[in-house]
Amino acid sequence: MICQIVSQLLLFIIIAHTVIDARAIQEDTVGQLVDGITNENEEMFATVINYRHRFEHSNNIKALRWMFQQHIDAEEVYCEICHILLPILRILIDANQTERIENVTLEICNKFGLVLDVCSGAVHEYKDAVLQVIYLTHFSDKALCSLALNCDRQTDYPALNWTVAIPDKKPPPQPPKPPSPDSPKLKVLQLADIHVDFEYKPGSEADCLEPLCCRKGPPLPGHPGAGFWGTSLHCDLPYWTAQAILEYASKTEEIDFIYYTGDTPPHNVWNQSRADQLYSITTINNLLATTFPNKMLYSAVGNHEAAPCNLFPTPIIKSDNISWLYQALADSWINTLGLPNDTRESILRGGFYTTLVRPGLRLISLNTNYYASDNYWLFVNSTDPLNQLEWFIQWLQYAEDNGEKVHIIAHHPPRTCFAAFGWNFNRIVNRFENTISGQFYGHTHRDEFNMFYDENDRQRPVSMAYIAPSLTTESFLNPGYRIYTMDGDYPSSSYWVLDHRTVIMNLTATNLYNRTILQDEYNVRTAYQLENLFPVDWDNFIKRLEYDIDGPLMSTVYTYYTKSHADGSQCNHVCRRALICDFKTARDDDPYACDSVPPFA
Ligand SMILES: [Zn+2]
Ligand SMILES: [Zn+2]
Repeated sequence: MICQIVSQLLLFIIIAHTVIDARAIQEDTVGQLVDGITNENEEMFATVINYRHRFEHSNNIKALRWMFQQHIDAEEVYCEICHILLPILRILIDANQTERIENVTLEICNKFGLVLDVCSGAVHEYKDAVLQVIYLTHFSDKALCSLALNCDRQTDYPALNWTVAIPDKKPPPQPPKPPSPDSPKLKVLQLADIHVDFEYKPGSEADCLEPLCCRKGPPLPGHPGAGFWGTSLHCDLPYWTAQAILEYASKTEEIDFIYYTGDTPPHNVWNQSRADQLYSITTINNLLATTFPNKMLYSAVGNHEAAPCNLFPTPIIKSDNISWLYQALADSWINTLGLPNDTRESILRGGFYTTLVRPGLRLISLNTNYYASDNYWLFVNSTDPLNQLEWFIQWLQYAEDNGEKVHIIAHHPPRTCFAAFGWNFNRIVNRFENTISGQFYGHTHRDEFNMFYDENDRQRPVSMAYIAPSLTTESFLNPGYRIYTMDGDYPSSSYWVLDHRTVIMNLTATNLYNRTILQDEYNVRTAYQLENLFPVDWDNFIKRLEYDIDGPLMSTVYTYYTKSHADGSQCNHVCRRALICDFKTARDDDPYACDSVPPFA
C-alpha cells in the first residue's frame, strides 16, 4: 500500500515538477492553464495530508479513492491533471531537459509539506524508470493516465485488452466432495508478507510523518514510542519478533510443508538498494531454513523484493533488468530452502516455477509482479510478459493429462492485478476447475478470500482463493500466520483445504508483559459455521453476509480481517459492502461483482 502511494505520488510529483519547468519553455501556451492546475493541485495535496490517518486504515487504492470522493472530486482532478500534463512531460523528454526534474523536487516537497528525504529519495529511485516508461510506451496519454491512476475502466482500452488461448475439451465439472473423516490429512503453514525491518528501534517515534516509522528519533511529547516487540502503526516487524513467531510455529504446529507468498523487505521504499533487498532475502530465508529444518518451503516473489519496489522490467526493457534478483532467489530457494534444481531455469527466466510437492500434487508458483498495475514497466507492453500465462496453461494441461491436482501460490491476489490478467486468469481457472484444488496469495496483509464463478453461469462457484494474513504489523494489524488442514496425502487425495486456523501475536499484551503471547485467533469452520471449505460453502457464506450486512457475522469477518486489531464497529456499511464486493470477484473492473450486495441499509 505504501509502496503504491509513494510511487503514485512520485509519478504525480514528477508531472507537477514538469509543469513548473515547462513554464519556462511554453510560457504562452501553458502558463495560464498551469496556474489553475497548481491551485487545485495544492488543495488536493492538502486533502491527502489532512486525511492521512484515514488512508492509513485503507486496504487498497480503491478504498483510498473512495475516501477522496467523499470529500472532493479528487479522482477527476488527478485524471484531468494527468491528461493535460503528460504531453508536456513528453515535450521535456524530447527537449532533453529531464535533468531539471530532480532539481525542483525539494522545492515541490517543501511546498506541499511532504517529508523531504522521503520525497527526494522516491524521486531519485523512480525517476529514471518513470521517464523511460513514458519515453517507450506506445499507449496514448489518455491510456497511460488510465493505467497509472485508474482514471477509466481499463477494459475500455483495446491496447490493454489481451487474451490467452485456452485449450478446449473442458471435462465436465466435478465439484470437490469431503473425504472420509479418517482419511489422512496434511498440515500446511502459510507465511505471508514478513517485512522485517532491520532498523526497527524500540522506543523510537512510532507515529512519524514518514511512510515507515519505529526507526529513529524519540517520540514527541504525548505521542507513542515503538514497542519492543512491534507496533501496530506504520511499522514493520522487528527481527526478534519474526524469529519468536516462527519458533513458536515450529515448536507448536504440526507442519508438512510451508508456502511463503513473498514480501520480505521493509516498507522504506524511498531509500532501498538492491543490496538491501538481497540482505533481507538472504537473512530471512536463512532464518526460515534454520527454524524449520527438514521442511520444504515453497516461495513466491513479492513486489517488495525489487529495487525500486514494484518495478520488474520485462525482457523488452533494455535500460534495466531484474536478473540480479532472480539469480539470488534461485540460489536461496534451491540451496537454502531445498527447491529441486530443475526449477532454476524458469526462476532465472522470470521468478516462477513448478514442482511436485507430493505425487499427485503439483505446485505452480507464479510471479504476479508481471501483472500488477504498480509495475510501471508494463505500460510499455502489458500483454502476458514472458508468456507466463501460456507457460501456466501448459502446466495445467500437463497436470490434467496426468491426473495431478494443482496448488497455485503467488503474491498478488488476481483481483489486485491488471483487469486483463484477472479476466484471463478467471477463464483459466474456469477451464481447469477440476485440476486446481488450492490458491494461496498474500500482499494485502489482511485476512481475506476471493471467489471465482462460472464464466457463463455466475451463480455457480468454481474456485476460491485464500489471501493470508501478514506476519508484519503494517499497518494497524497484529502479526499472524495461517495453518491449513488439507486432504492428503494418499492415492487419489483431492488436496483441497478442509479447514484452517489463524494464529496471531497479541501485540498489546506481548509488549505489556514483555513476553511473546501467541494465541489461536479462530478456526474457520467453527467460527463461520461452515460445513466444508469448498467453493459452494464460501458462496453460501457470502450470501449469509449479504443477507445481514450490518450484523454480527460481518463484524467477526472484519475483526479477523485485521487480525483482531480492530472490531466490527470500525467498519461501517459502506466499508462492509466494499469488502463483500472484493470477496465476490477475482477480477478488477468486474461490473457485476456488487450486483447482489444490498447498497444501503
Ligand atoms: Zn506486503
Ligand atoms: Zn506486496
